[in-house]
Amino acid sequence: MNCPCCSGKIYQECCKPYHTGEKYALTAEALMRSRFSAFAIPNSEYLLETTLPSKRKYHSKNALQEWGETNEWTKLEIIDKPFLNKVEFKAFYIDDEGHQQIHHELSTFKMIQNRWFYVSGEFLE
Ligand SMILES: [Zn+2]
Repeated sequence: MNCPCCSGKIYQECCKPYHTGEKYALTAEALMRSRFSAFAIPNSEYLLETTLPSKRKYHSKNALQEWGETNEWTKLEIIDKPFLNKVEFKAFYIDDEGHQQIHHELSTFKMIQNRWFYVSGEFLE
């Protein structure tokens, strides 16, 4: 299958090795892409695991899983990478009522011991 992150690569050669823990994302963008794919699959375990440990308490695995399942994740667009630890993106999805939605976010990431983690996001528009 094509990778849900819209890289043009197949899933096995793109985000899957991150999801299975075979390797860690080398850049904030790669982590961001793999997290979008994890919503599409969905894989809430991975979403929680790639969230900064001190921020995990603000997320619930069940809610993440449900959010991933309820929506149909159609497209990811990387808009900008203003800093090494920031990625602006648009995630396109169809909600449970069949409406086209766009989630526009500027995400902040942090590297700890050579691993990138998602810190938080600022919603735009
Ligand atoms: Zn991918």
